[in-house]
Amino acid sequence: MKVLRTVKELTEFSRELRAQGKTIGLVPTMGALHSGHLSLVKRARGENDAVVVSVFVNPTQFNNPDDLSTYPRTERADASLLEGEQVDVMFAPSVQEIYPSGGDEGHTFNLGYVAEVMEGAMRPGHFQGVAQIVSKLLRLTVPHRAYFGEKDFQQIAVIRRMASVAGFDSLEIVSCPIRREPDGLALSSRNVRLTPENRKAAPAIHRILADSVALAPAKSVAEVTESVISAINAVDGLEVEYYQIVDADTMQPISSWSDARQAVGCVTVYAGDVRLIDNIKY
Ligand code: AMP
Repeated sequence: MKVLRTVKELTEFSRELRAQGKTIGLVPTMGALHSGHLSLVKRARGENDAVVVSVFVNPTQFNNPDDLSTYPRTERADASLLEGEQVDVMFAPSVQEIYPSGGDEGHTFNLGYVAEVMEGAMRPGHFQGVAQIVSKLLRLTVPHRAYFGEKDFQQIAVIRRMASVAGFDSLEIVSCPIRREPDGLALSSRNVRLTPENRKAAPAIHRILADSVALAPAKSVAEVTESVISAINAVDGLEVEYYQIVDADTMQPISSWSDARQAVGCVTVYAGDVRLIDNIKY
């Protein structure tokens, strides 16, 4: 595996691969890799001649400076995990390399309504930052496929929108299922920051979401929403920021089950000062 740190090295490497007629799969990550990330890498490995994994904690998508400064960084462990998955390139640039003139590049993406609700409403600027870094990585790597996890369900809708407005027409966006701990907690780089008490409480999030599927459609969307919020808030140490049941394609809140072909419930929960995210399909 090559570890590349400059834009020039990555563009040259991917140009060479394409010249040889090889397909490229890109897996964008912020590192602190766990088996959720590796499930994307394995899928990419199986579907492409070459796999590029980026490991870059992108400052422009953090709306909270403490979240950025406490974000776990484990580059050496990441490199050995990726080596074990037969990844061709780990792209691990500096912030200066990606944003030589600072993160504010004077361009905003028209992300439309999918970016306005939920994470878009709670984390101003977050999705613009995500669109900015993912579009850069796509321009540098020119992959045939790019892989994203459904843990960040809304993010996939935003990336699809970005790819369509920015003209990545031949790119295939591959969405991959959520990977969980045996007790149900969605794998996340932020889980290492949970206190032992909060780590014990956190699996209740998935358990409550999964149980709520049995309530629909006998109960209304509003009733299911309310019962999920109150059940999670009743767990010591957990506090719901939002729970919304939305159309899986448009991300717009629904008021009746028949409003969506596929409904998905998206939650963010504070476990102490760690913000956890999860979702469930109905
Ligand atoms: P991150 O490093 O958190 O930006 O995540 C990089 C990619 O891995 C994103 O597409 C995430 O959705 C995906 N990912 C993170 N956690 C999981 C998980 N538990 N299961 C599946 N995909 C995940």
